[in-house]
Amino acid sequence: MSLIVQKFGGTSVADAECIRRVAGIVAKTYRAGHGVVVVLSAQGDTTDELIAKAREVSRSPSPRELDMLLSTGEQISVALFAMAVETLGLPVVSLTGWQIGLKTDRNYGNARIKKVECERLRVELDRKNIVVVCGFQGVNRYDDVTTLGRGGSDTTAVAIAAALKADLCQIYTDVDGVYTTDPRSVPEARKLDEITYDEMLELSSLGARVLHNRSVEMAKRYHVPLEVISSFTGQPGTQVKEGLKVEQLNVSGVTRDDNVARIALVGLDDMPGKAFRIFSLLAAKKINVDVILQSIGRGDTKDISFTVPKQMLNAARAILEEHRDAIGYTDMVISDEISKVSIVGAGMVGNAGVAAEMFEALAAANINIQMISTSEIKVSVLIDARDAKQAVQVIHDKFFG
Ligand code: ADP
Ligand code: ASP
Ligand code: MG
Repeated sequence: MSLIVQKFGGTSVADAECIRRVAGIVAKTYRAGHGVVVVLSAQGDTTDELIAKAREVSRSPSPRELDMLLSTGEQISVALFAMAVETLGLPVVSLTGWQIGLKTDRNYGNARIKKVECERLRVELDRKNIVVVCGFQGVNRYDDVTTLGRGGSDTTAVAIAAALKADLCQIYTDVDGVYTTDPRSVPEARKLDEITYDEMLELSSLGARVLHNRSVEMAKRYHVPLEVISSFTGQPGTQVKEGLKVEQLNVSGVTRDDNVARIALVGLDDMPGKAFRIFSLLAAKKINVDVILQSIGRGDTKDISFTVPKQMLNAARAILEEHRDAIGYTDMVISDEISKVSIVGAGMVGNAGVAAEMFEALAAANINIQMISTSEIKVSVLIDARDAKQAVQVIHDKFFG
């Protein structure tokens, strides 16, 4: 007998028919003799609808109350799902994040999991119950409800799998697995049979929302065997794991992130301490800075450009304006109409030709690169948002065409 955690996303539990289908998948696993913990997301677009409802009564609801509201979506799913399992004559119990002791930090809206107290889960598994748990939610040290950030149910599932030392964590979704790029925007995208934790972590951090990036981080840290699989087709999915059997591809995937804004500070004195001053101000406000570019000085001035997530742009602009004299720039130029397009692949380590091929594809499509950043297993470029769809397509054609 194995212990398996099965997570189903919003589309997979969108309506009664979907819930019955998914209950069938879970029942099959249970009848095969396995212990099963099921983690569910809110149905369909429920979370978006709840956010819209909040906006109807308040322009800036407090993060605490917003989390109180958003956590209700998952509670609807687990209760309905447990009822559907009951009709199959199987023992089942639904539980909230609080009931399973999923403890987080205080960061409402984007809380990090600190631990999962396994007692209640173990008791229910020992009773041979199918245990159905609300994804996306936990409680902080004050017993207030927190949520884990959009897409966070994946992380709930992996955290439970890690805490219970489960044999497998399956993320059931509305695509057959992890593809070489989002199959909804590039129909020629290919399904990957397997991918390393490191590559998957880069892909999900760089915009591929098929897995919440923290779920991958946690799976890697606790060696949780992870599988991404469709709840609709019954096809084999993608294994996310440490080492790969087959020969490594140079590039495993192409991804795109539209949630970026660029800030350029122009006309800084070319002297030590400027970068320190700028980025320590931003760090103090917990503003994440990503790609950074410093131009070679013209005369005795230089420019520094960098990107921040769009929702942090206003805060970044405010702090930089407030300290304009101390930083000493002549102009601040802001653009929020940019996208970051990236290629990821463990096989590109030390292979400079891969980046050149990506740039060649962009050049042939006459797409201008504004900034570039690289790491051992990824190359990212910032481009005009209007070019992003085409950029993903031509880069994908280049490597997988
Ligand atoms: P769920 O509700 O099941 O959590 P999500 O919408 O969060 O599902 O994630 C699945 C979606 O991720 C797919 O429908 C697909 O459009 C998108 N996606 C983006 N990049 C990829 C990729 N590389 N491989 C597969 N799906 C991807
Ligand atoms: N329901 C939450 C969201 O829409 C969490 C999840 O689906 O993973 O972001
Ligand atoms: Mg998701």
